[in-house]
Amino acid sequence: MEEKDNMEAMYIAAVRQLRTIVFEINYITGKNYCSPLFDEFFGISTIPSEDFTVNEETRKILYEEDIELYKSLFIKKDGERSVICRFVTKEGKINWYRVIIQYFYGEDGGLERVIGTMKDVSDEIRSSAELKYHQDYDILTGAENFARFNQEAERLLTWDNGHRYALIVMDIEKFKVINDLYNMRVGDLVLIHIADVLREMVRDPNVFCRMHSDVFCICSMYETKGDIIRFIEKLKKQIEINGFDFEIKTSYGVYLPEIDDSLSVNLMCDRAALAKKAIKDNAMQFCAFYDEEYRNEIVKNTRIEGEMTKALGDKQFVMYLQPKVDLETGRIVGAEALTRWRHPQNGMLQPNEFIPLFEKNGFILRLDEYMWEEACKALHDWKQAGRHMIPVSVNVSRYHIYNHNVERILKELLDKYDLMPEALSLEITETMFFNNADKLYSMLNRLREMGFRLEVDDFGSGYSSLNMLRDVPVDVLKIDKGFLDSTLTSEKGKIVIRHTIAMAKELQLKIIAEGVETEEHVKFLKDSHCDVAQGFYFAQPMPLEEFNKLDF
Ligand code: C2E
Ligand code: MG
Ligand code: MG
Repeated sequence: MEEKDNMEAMYIAAVRQLRTIVFEINYITGKNYCSPLFDEFFGISTIPSEDFTVNEETRKILYEEDIELYKSLFIKKDGERSVICRFVTKEGKINWYRVIIQYFYGEDGGLERVIGTMKDVSDEIRSSAELKYHQDYDILTGAENFARFNQEAERLLTWDNGHRYALIVMDIEKFKVINDLYNMRVGDLVLIHIADVLREMVRDPNVFCRMHSDVFCICSMYETKGDIIRFIEKLKKQIEINGFDFEIKTSYGVYLPEIDDSLSVNLMCDRAALAKKAIKDNAMQFCAFYDEEYRNEIVKNTRIEGEMTKALGDKQFVMYLQPKVDLETGRIVGAEALTRWRHPQNGMLQPNEFIPLFEKNGFILRLDEYMWEEACKALHDWKQAGRHMIPVSVNVSRYHIYNHNVERILKELLDKYDLMPEALSLEITETMFFNNADKLYSMLNRLREMGFRLEVDDFGSGYSSLNMLRDVPVDVLKIDKGFLDSTLTSEKGKIVIRHTIAMAKELQLKIIAEGVETEEHVKFLKDSHCDVAQGFYFAQPMPLEEFNKLDF
């Protein structure tokens, strides 16, 4: 008897500590039992049956939506069964409980009793629901995440409701700059703003998600390409309406599953992203549709990106020099250093095959530096050999505006190769003058103070204003081949170029004409008092060994 009391005490303590309700329905004695916690939670002290749905009073504590789930406990009357469902406490709170019941049978096979337990598992469930939320949604913006989008887009694409769906990938131009210039919090607010606009504009059944960082994907119904373009234009506009004191520009890539609908959503988004990546640095173009051409280009670019670092180390980039010729005397008065890539498999690659890519991925900074050093080496060798020192001009990519090391690098090269800054001219392309004028001008001023001669490359190829000529801290204008070609075809054109040359000279700027190919070019330039010319008429760019054989 004592042992039984002891057991009972232990049992009561254990049940209390575990915050578990125990109930028993005894079919032999006809007595039902509920541990006190049941009353504490639900305000009911006895239960008439193991199935709470049987009785009016107990049915009330079941959460309406989970009644069917709860009833499933009693489908089979054998062994142990459990469900997790919601109950309403006496305070009216809805909590989750794990209910386990077990049937006990006598030796004769008759049902003797049911013992059940109920335990509040709300905390567990809520955290796993939260987990599920984390699995499906992006916490920052509340947009779906890619995993969930993937499933939903897949469902839309295979849903045969007579509609077509496009996959659109979008990102923010220069998002990194926003994060750097302002701070991460501002960057976060931008993302939240974009998700808000998307929520407003992407209507059921279309879906969208934040894929990662500043990349969003949309799966949107369409009939014609025009629908997609209109949608994107509107979206872009809506995003641009905001309270930030800077612009938020977005760009878009589109994949139409009709191209190949056997691809996974993942791959379709990749292709949309490829199309977006192929958008040239062109303010007018913010949207591109994927087609197989992009793929080839991207495959090629990816290969180049895999090879470029090793190529630089292996000295596969070669400096070619093209003479600059004085039109008056016919003498070589300078040279321009131009890159060639001696590719082990693909032969000699021209700059247009890799420079634009290097400008996108930033590798241009390293290639330029390498070329500057090659130029300095050549100059150093001429000096050692006692040759006449003509200046070599090197190209300075616009990305150097953001490279704070330019001056240091150039200074170190001059020191290392024992050269005066006059030996090196720096070519800066005209397009650099459109953006970041302040930054650029201060960099140019510093370089000029250091003693470098600065040349505006490709002058006339863009939309340079004549005002620019008044302000730019440079020494030389290199008239672009295109400008020369197009203007020489008409009398008016000739007037424009002649006067440009005259004005530049009056502003103390020297003039070099690029892309001089014909006798006619030469004659016209001489008549217009142009100083120097560079072009195939005189010589093609050539390897250093060959250049060294020239007379200068
Ligand atoms: P750029 O600096 O304007 O160089 C002049 C380009 O015109 C060179 O093309 C040259 O070969 C070409 N050219 C010269 N004379 C004639 C001619 O009479 N007719 C024609 N049709 N073309 C002529 P290249 O070497 O293919 O270089 C193209 C561009 O690539 C360069 O234009 C420059 O912007 C860029 N580039 C080349 N090397 C480098 C480099 O090391 N760094 C950077 N940042 N850019 C480079
Ligand atoms: Mg150049
Ligand atoms: Mg040029």
